[in-house]
Amino acid sequence: MRRIVVVGASLGGLRAAEQLRAAGHTGELVVVGDEPHPPYNRPPLSKEVLAAEVSLDRVAFRMRASVADTDWRLGTAATEADLTARVVRLADGTEMSYDGLVIATGLRPRRLDAPGSGPSRHVVRTLDDAAALRACLEPGVRVAVVGAGFIGCEVAATARTLGADVTMVAPENEPMLRPLGAEFGAELRRRHQQQRGVRFLLGRTVACFTGNGLELSDGTMVHADVVVEAVGSVPCVEWLEGNGLDLSDGVLCDGALRVEGRPDVVAVGDVARFPNLRYDDVPRRVEHWSMPTDTAKHAARSLLGENGRPFMPLPSFWSDQYDMRLQSFGAPALGGGDIRFLEGDLSEEAVLGYHRDGRLVGVVMLGRGGSMSRYRKLLLDETRVPAS
Ligand SMILES: Cc1cc2nc3c(=O)[nH]c(=O)nc-3n(C[C@H](O)[C@H](O)[C@H](O)COP(=O)(O)OP(=O)(O)OC[C@H]3O[C@@H](n4cnc5c(N)ncnc54)[C@H](O)[C@@H]3O)c2cc1C
Repeated sequence: MRRIVVVGASLGGLRAAEQLRAAGHTGELVVVGDEPHPPYNRPPLSKEVLAAEVSLDRVAFRMRASVADTDWRLGTAATEADLTARVVRLADGTEMSYDGLVIATGLRPRRLDAPGSGPSRHVVRTLDDAAALRACLEPGVRVAVVGAGFIGCEVAATARTLGADVTMVAPENEPMLRPLGAEFGAELRRRHQQQRGVRFLLGRTVACFTGNGLELSDGTMVHADVVVEAVGSVPCVEWLEGNGLDLSDGVLCDGALRVEGRPDVVAVGDVARFPNLRYDDVPRRVEHWSMPTDTAKHAARSLLGENGRPFMPLPSFWSDQYDMRLQSFGAPALGGGDIRFLEGDLSEEAVLGYHRDGRLVGVVMLGRGGSMSRYRKLLLDETRVPAS
């Protein structure tokens, strides 16, 4: 291929560029990104970067020699693509033709759709978001975190550690309910609430913003100086509209990460929706840090026409909250109806197994890092797909 264009300059875009070179692409390589920064690591944004000022150098990914000749077009968004003419248009007016296209545009935070205005509203997705929120976090400041998924819980933990007065609001009855289940979620809440003093207002949504905080669906008033919206994410796919793709939840791909009907286009990272035969043939997106690297490796080979094998990753995920480390392998959310203790006790350290149709599909560990490789191997064995 003469020129491959990668749109999205974060972990997925960087890994795609590296893997294209590793798989033998010697032609031109262009990476387009709307953020002004070179690719950097997002997990520290809700942890170390929120807790203290951290320079870009500390979170930027190392640039390998293999991508030194890449043409980085940073600070400019792709606004449109014509996948038949094989052209991408950028916000600065540039039109760029390609022979191969990699979609790596990830997600942006969903925003609360509630009327009114009041306290300072924040999200945490970019380095600039984290810097803006950090500037507000000081002892005694009243922070309402809306959303009790992993980003909401991590932000609450960091803000509380800095001495902020933190209230969490969420429609679910426990934090991290979907990936962990009710019992694990309850233990997480206990640790945030009883050990660290976070206030929980669960089973409620935000009705409106008021001059000094939030009003919730049951009439409760939450006084807050700062509101953090951690209510999920939306795939960045608007620039692909008009090409007849299924963009209903990210970009629909086949089992080799090729965009359906377009052999010269692949997708990687958080934005890619693909079937994983390790579980079933339902296409899903996976928002884990391991995924950009795994997808990039496979998608690069698919784009260069060298892949016959379906993509069957074992997703993995971690979350750090205070001194707790949660570690997950596989797809626990698929096994939420049958959760069994494999080891330990939730009040200290534990390993839980998530089963579907009696088969282990996911493991979540609270501490117990030493058992990690054993459970990873167990899951790989349990979800192995027989060669046909
Ligand atoms: C605060 C935070 C904490 C996290 N912590 C963890 C953790 O502890 N453990 C874990 O496993 N995972 C964690 N994750 C998830 C992990 O960081 C993501 O899975 C990973 O960043 C996905 O990489 P990506 O390249 O696919 O997408 P992204 O990182 O979203 O990158 C997409 C890039 O494309 C750009 N873009 C979007 N639209 C356009 C356009 N039209 N033109 C040009 N550029 C565009 C975006 O601005 C962005 O720079 C965390 C994520 C966040 C936000």
